[in-house]
Amino acid sequence: MTILLSSSDWLVTETQLELDKVNYFESVFTVGNGYQGTRGSLEEGLAGELSGTYLAGVYDHHDSNVIDLVNAPTWLPVEIRVAGHKLDGQNCKVIEHHRTLDLYTGLLHRETVFKDKAGRLTRLKSTRLCSFADQHICGQRLEITPENHDSNVTIESRIDGDRYNLECLPAYRDPREFHNEVKWEKWAKSRHLEMQLTDAGEDGAYLQTRTIDTGIEIAVASALTCPGGAINFTASVDYKSAGQAASFETQSGTSYVFEDISAIYTSRDMEGGEIRQACQTALSEAVSNGFDYCAGESAAAWAKKWEDCDCTITGDVEATRAVRFNIYHLLITANENDPRANIGAKSMSGEGYRGHVFWDTEVFLLPFYIYAQPNAAKALILYRYNTLDGAIRNAKDNGFSGAQFPWESADSGVETTPKWTHDGVNRIWTGEEEIHITACVAYGVMTYLTATNDWDFMRDHGAEMLYQTSRFWISRLEHNENKDRFELTRVIGPDEFHEHIDNNTFTNRMAQWHLDKAVEIFAHLDGENAAGHDALIAELGISKKEVAQWSETAAKIYIPADPERNLIEQFEGYFDLDDLPITEWDENQMPLYPEGRDHFTLNDTMILKQPDVIMLMYMLPDEFSDAAKKANYEFYERRTMHKSSLSPAIHAIMGIEVGDYSTAHRYFERSAYVDLVNNQGNTEDGIHIASAGGTWQSVVCGFGGFRVRQGQMTFKPWLPEHWEEVRFTIQWRGKRLEVSIGQSECAFQLEGEQKDTEAIMLFDEQVTLMTGERTVVARER
Ligand code: BGC
Ligand code: BGC
Repeated sequence: MTILLSSSDWLVTETQLELDKVNYFESVFTVGNGYQGTRGSLEEGLAGELSGTYLAGVYDHHDSNVIDLVNAPTWLPVEIRVAGHKLDGQNCKVIEHHRTLDLYTGLLHRETVFKDKAGRLTRLKSTRLCSFADQHICGQRLEITPENHDSNVTIESRIDGDRYNLECLPAYRDPREFHNEVKWEKWAKSRHLEMQLTDAGEDGAYLQTRTIDTGIEIAVASALTCPGGAINFTASVDYKSAGQAASFETQSGTSYVFEDISAIYTSRDMEGGEIRQACQTALSEAVSNGFDYCAGESAAAWAKKWEDCDCTITGDVEATRAVRFNIYHLLITANENDPRANIGAKSMSGEGYRGHVFWDTEVFLLPFYIYAQPNAAKALILYRYNTLDGAIRNAKDNGFSGAQFPWESADSGVETTPKWTHDGVNRIWTGEEEIHITACVAYGVMTYLTATNDWDFMRDHGAEMLYQTSRFWISRLEHNENKDRFELTRVIGPDEFHEHIDNNTFTNRMAQWHLDKAVEIFAHLDGENAAGHDALIAELGISKKEVAQWSETAAKIYIPADPERNLIEQFEGYFDLDDLPITEWDENQMPLYPEGRDHFTLNDTMILKQPDVIMLMYMLPDEFSDAAKKANYEFYERRTMHKSSLSPAIHAIMGIEVGDYSTAHRYFERSAYVDLVNNQGNTEDGIHIASAGGTWQSVVCGFGGFRVRQGQMTFKPWLPEHWEEVRFTIQWRGKRLEVSIGQSECAFQLEGEQKDTEAIMLFDEQVTLMTGERTVVARER
């Protein structure tokens, strides 16, 4: 049975084929399942496309400047010819075209009518699947209908192993504008794959490659079938592809249905056994079940995910859809089964930032996973644990002790930040200087611990991370003899417009917080007398004296502040910079650079790329007074350019916290629609996945006003007038809390396996919730 479309608040659509939006929709319509992501390119291909299938954790360094998430062999291509004429957007006129991504089922539906040069009309319908029920399975169902002709039609499905990553656009003189159809051809490309095997026969096609530098084998098996039809397939291979084709005579008005199912395995998945065997066994099973069955199983798995992850805004369908779109992308990119992979800055929907992992994971993404998908959160944190060796190497390479997490991480935890911008003009210093990442990793661990109470995880993994990274801070902190304080000089804070700065408040305070937390965790685990912990500290050689040094050092870390103005100085000397105003905004109300300035020439001004002090106030909610939050929000907000998509969500949340409601809703929209309206202008490089996590936080922590304070769930909601109700779910220490915030009341439904209570704070009042009961509280307005 074919799966029906969901209601419109679950649907994202494209209604015509516009060449200059092709790359944009490729990102937006990415399908995935945490194991793989495949961009929403058209099956038949199009000149100017930027297609790609990416596999979580499959990186390679061969032939590229910096390690890449590999553009892997892809299962997608299907070519259709009518009387020898290829159907695609360049050879034919596209009479009708629409695609719909159904966020609820994860299926991508398409319908296109091509008119070829002889005036023949052919309709192509497809449904694309990347299974949530079996991560190795993907495929498509294709339906071809000749509308006004009887012809010979050929359909050919191929596995394409001739794949390259984009490297950079070589220096061309300005203006460097190229026509859509050729612009990617101008780029240099990196090769990461060497072919091992291509094979094809009546039953299917098979291709096996290996990443050259990292030695990961990638196997793809496919089968093209025609259920119920007596069509003969021929097979063909060449050096870098393998496929099957069928040729048949059609009758006008009759529809011909094909299924093109694929299985993917890599050597990372194999614990013994033969990769080809594993791949083909998975494929045979899926083929015998049929496409609709596989799609149904996947849709059922999606429905289960949505039970815990959905967020709705009654009274604003567009906003609900936008929030779901963000959650969809969060769900297709996390893999709870793979603690060796993490999420790159563009998820698996594009090559922007080369698939590298940033602080985006801990600060922007993890809150969503921790409160909605705790198993995925755990896998993401375990990735940091599994890359500790790389972090230890970074510290050593830089002359420090312990473990220093990299600003940009790939498969090993070794620093992978490029040193130069694509055009080779500007030096990038983030790899050397954006050291707050290490504290952010600790922040992720602690947020997870508080929400889950998973002390086993802490004993087995978290503690080691905290201790090793504390050692890094102790060696990185510089003692200022004159002032008897510890400092961190030559750093970059979250606001990357300012490089080589000293004593960035965010970094200093987070390092201090990190050390304090390590001391607390040590005290707790030490008190337990657990053998596991004893063994750990023996192995690392940690003494009580060393732990005492962590706390003594933390107490002496310098935090720049201006008590008279209630303002916190972003870093030493910031208040002396040129207070250049922002005076122009684009059509999306995003600030424009002051004339003659850009990303690399604002060092001497007070203009920020993204929140820094405000970020700190969000992350450590208990540490600052309401007055300080308000004063700093007012001061910094008007100086912030939001040149990172991470910025608006935090402004939405903090705007609500300080009562600046007029801007909060606008910031929420900027974050929620960043990719739907392309307001950063670069969605073609991939989805802004941190902004997706930020959007979830702006609903839950902004409008819902959710914060964890002193280990307790607290809520201070605020809703725009045209919203009736916001609903979301939080997983908390093995229980599940459904929250509905209305204009006049808030309702909480606590669910858990045993009878239990949970005390929360709503505004300033304690409310005790009981499992199995719904508690409704009138809302203070
Ligand atoms: C980002 C940095 C990053 C650099 C290189 C810049 O655009 O802002 O955080 O390290 O690119 O990837
Ligand atoms: C931001 C960083 C972020 C990176 C990757 C940069 O533009 O400044 O904060 O980590 O992008 O998303």
